[in-house]
Formats: sequence, C-alpha cells, structure tokens
Amino acid sequence: MSTAITNISSLVTNDPSLGEGPLGLIQDAAVVVDGDRIAWVGTTSKAPATDNAVDAGGRAVLPGYVDSHSHLVFAGDRTAEFNARMSGRSYTAGGIRTTVAATRAATDEELEANLRRHLHEALRQGTTTVETKSGYGLTTDDEARALRIAAAHTDEVTYLGAHVVAPEFADDPAGYVALVTGEMLDACAPHARWVDVFCERGAFDGDQARTILTAGQRHGLVPRVHANQLGHGPGVQLAVELGAASADHCTHLTDADVDALANSSTVATLLPGAEFSTRAPWPDARRLLDAGATVALSTDCNPGSSYTSSMSFCIALAVRDMGMTPDEAVWSATAGGAAALRRTDVGRLTPGARADLQLLDAPSHVHLAYRPGVPLVREVWRGGVREV
Ligand SMILES: [Zn+2]
Repeated sequence: MSTAITNISSLVTNDPSLGEGPLGLIQDAAVVVDGDRIAWVGTTSKAPATDNAVDAGGRAVLPGYVDSHSHLVFAGDRTAEFNARMSGRSYTAGGIRTTVAATRAATDEELEANLRRHLHEALRQGTTTVETKSGYGLTTDDEARALRIAAAHTDEVTYLGAHVVAPEFADDPAGYVALVTGEMLDACAPHARWVDVFCERGAFDGDQARTILTAGQRHGLVPRVHANQLGHGPGVQLAVELGAASADHCTHLTDADVDALANSSTVATLLPGAEFSTRAPWPDARRLLDAGATVALSTDCNPGSSYTSSMSFCIALAVRDMGMTPDEAVWSATAGGAAALRRTDVGRLTPGARADLQLLDAPSHVHLAYRPGVPLVREVWRGGVREV
C-alpha cells in the first residue's frame, strides 16, 4: 500500500544529492511512503501514481527527530531540587541519588508506565527514535531491570551502571567499578547496545571510565560517554581514543578536545536542555562546526538536570545561544542524532529510509527556531503509520 504526501511547501531530506544545501531541501515536494519505508521523494508535479494521497496543505515536512540521549527509566521527580537551584544553588552530580532511591522503590509496572508516558510525550513533539539509558538502579538487579524495560520500547538501549557510584559503595568506589564491570555487566549486556559512563568530577575519573568502557566493549557494547559537562576533563579524549559513537555534553572543551572530535568519527552531542535547566554556560556549537566536527542535538531528558522531551526547544536554544543556524540545528536534531547512534535508516527522508517524518504547522523548518515554544508539530508518522 503506497501513499503520497503531496503539496509539501518545503521538504528536508538531509540528502544533499536530492535537493538544495546540506538539508537537501526540496520545494513544492512530495514523499511516497510504501509500507514502513520511503519509496520516493521529489517535486509534487513528478510524483508517481500511488494507492492513496494526502495533501500536506503547503506545510513543511522533515524527518522525525532522533533523540540520541535520554534517561527515561526512572521514578519520582525533582521539582524541589530544580526550584532550589533556580533560587541559587548550583548543580552537582549528587542529586542523581534522589532518583535512584525512587527508582529502586518503584514496581516494574510503574517504571514502564513512566517510560511509556515520556516516549509518547516525545512522539507528540516529533521524536520517532529515542535512545535511553539505565543508571538509576545501581544494583545488578535494578540496572538489568531498567534495561529490560527500555529494550521493550526501543532498540537504542544504553547500559549506564556507571552513572554515579552507588550509595552502598560511597567508601569503596573501586569496589563499585568492579561490580559495574563484572556481575552487573554480565546481567546487563544482553539487554543493551551501548555502554556509557559519567566521566566527571564527583562521578568517575578517566581511568575508571576507561576500565568501564573497555569492559563493555569486551561484551560487545559500543561506547558513548558523558564527557566534559561540568568542567574540563578526560572524557572527550577517551571517547575518541576508544572509538565511541558519541561524546555527550561537550560543554567545556580545550582546543585539543575540539581537534580530536573533528578528526574522528565520534559525534559531539550537545544537550542544551541541561545548560538551560542548570543555568550553566552553553556549549559552543559554532566552534565545533567550524572545526569540522559532526554535531548532534539531543534532550538529555531526565528528571534532574534536563526535564524536557522537546527537540524543538533544543533547536531553538541551539540557534539562539550556541551559534547554530536553523539549518544546522535541524540537521543535528535529525541526521546528527542518527549519526550519534550509527544509524543510516533514520534521520533522513530518502528512498529506503524508514518512513519516520513530521508535518509542521509552518511552511518551513526554520519556524522551529523562529517560533520557539509554539507546538508546531501537526502530524507524526512512524514506520509509515500516522501516529499523531
Ligand atoms: Zn545524560
């Protein structure tokens, strides 16, 4: 069953060979969806015959967002902590332990319902691919349970037993690293694709992070790293050295860090929701882009430091405060996220790609930054099915 979406004012394909500029923009465009895939894209006047047709009414169409960094298996919230921080207290990694206590106390059903609610919230806002992590269990059973629940809802599941040192190991961080790289890893690896570590002062140092990531690699997991969020540190260099798919945050970078990212296949994933929610300095996307690094944008959706599921909001922040053009920000939120997950079937609207797309109540993707905070996403199709 094929369906043509016609009368698209402006189509973002993310394939420069199909249209104008890096976004491969096509004006007066049509997209043909066949099953769960894109079968054809081009101008409406050249669209092939199809079983069904949908008139986009002169709206813009772009790929569904690829949110390559979130923490959605959790319970409870941290409203009080946010409120206190906005009243002047600074953010440290320790607040995670509040969510750990609530998550351990929750039932499987409560955790799954919360995950579903947040995934649906993201879908309504145009996000069709979501990576999510463990990291609020910090025991073998609780981490494995988080990953099992996540894996029922997305293929992009990340083992983050090394989020912070579990409270039971406060006086024995080496013992916790041994657990994370031993029994916990054995239990978690079958449910995950990625291994991650919070490489930061107050969490894990460079040597510990290397031990954790390489142990994950021996179990077939591919590294991604929480790096250089709160200050300078070894995270970015370690990510590049180990061939991580992504170094995430990248807020405090030396010139050597920028060079390392630019000369590697490691994507720099920027998470402006975290800087917004902690009143921290913005990551400098312009510096990374000018150096030639691949940049992704993601929400970091989590109850402590970035409780937004809105990729459109992140685009607006990136354009306003991080030196990105609207085109660059939209690319980073779609194709960039796909690159950070090493996916070629999402984040683009090209023949053979998954039919994951969004229709905006706007004539152009530029409106995502031009009209911040406005719910512009009118329809979302995932795997060829209209879900919103
Ligand atoms: Zn994170």
